[in-house]
Amino acid sequence: MDVLGTVRVLALTLAAFFTVSAAGASASVIIADAAPITSLDASGPTSESFTFLGGKWNPGANAAQGSVVQGPGDATWSIMGAGFSDVSGADTAHIGTTMAITALAVPGFLVGDYQALFDQALDVWASVSSFTNMGMVADGGVNAGASEASGGALGDIRIAAWEISTSTVLAHAFEPGNESVFGSGGSIAGDLHLDVNRTWRDDPTDTNADGDFDLFTVVLHELGHSLGLGHSAVSGSVMEGNYAGARRTLHADDIAGIQAIYGAATVAAPEPSSFVLLGALGLGFLSHRRLRRRVRPEPSSARA
Ligand SMILES: [Zn+2]
Repeated sequence: MDVLGTVRVLALTLAAFFTVSAAGASASVIIADAAPITSLDASGPTSESFTFLGGKWNPGANAAQGSVVQGPGDATWSIMGAGFSDVSGADTAHIGTTMAITALAVPGFLVGDYQALFDQALDVWASVSSFTNMGMVADGGVNAGASEASGGALGDIRIAAWEISTSTVLAHAFEPGNESVFGSGGSIAGDLHLDVNRTWRDDPTDTNADGDFDLFTVVLHELGHSLGLGHSAVSGSVMEGNYAGARRTLHADDIAGIQAIYGAATVAAPEPSSFVLLGALGLGFLSHRRLRRRVRPEPSSARA
């Protein structure tokens, strides 16, 4: 990151939060967000579109990955276990230590279901941009913000279930970029913490009228922060600062935002095998088209 970028990240040094808005009430004030994001959410112009926190996942070794050099826009993720605290000094919004991810208590969910949900939500962002979800890695089992050296490899984006002390905040996430901003280890950059004291559901039709929350919607929003997006004032966007019911599909404003950071999605090159044998050409094209249709990221609303 260049000097200018470093200064910008230092000036923000923020964890961005997704807040609760009571059904029927006016939007709650984003009390935890740092300027200039707050002004957009609380009283800013309603026409304001996506905002950029200032950082992105860059090429090279990240503190969270040690000597592993990733390409431009690549990030891994991992799930923190129970019993860890924050040693970065950047996160003061917790009570106690992390809990097992299953403490989120989505009915019927086992660990593998949480893993699949996080991966799919990250894929939603990856599917429309040149950001690459490098997938889940084992978590090194160290405190949030600890150095990689103290606990082996960690995901760039570490996801944890934790009790968040601010009553209006469902979850929060740290922006990516210069990891040295967040303490000596710096690995808290990109991390995502979900409040265990909420009623989480896997409900793509949640209306925000019943006091529970669609986990996929909140994770999708927080991962937007983990990738570098701030809040948007565009109504209906995933990056709006208040929960307003399930919202699993990216708005055009969200797509414009993520593409502004990482670039547009790369178009897949034709399969070389399609051109190897003349006789197989037609079949090759057919199977290729079928495969592409099958692997095209599903609309998140398809997840039931
Ligand atoms: Zn937010």
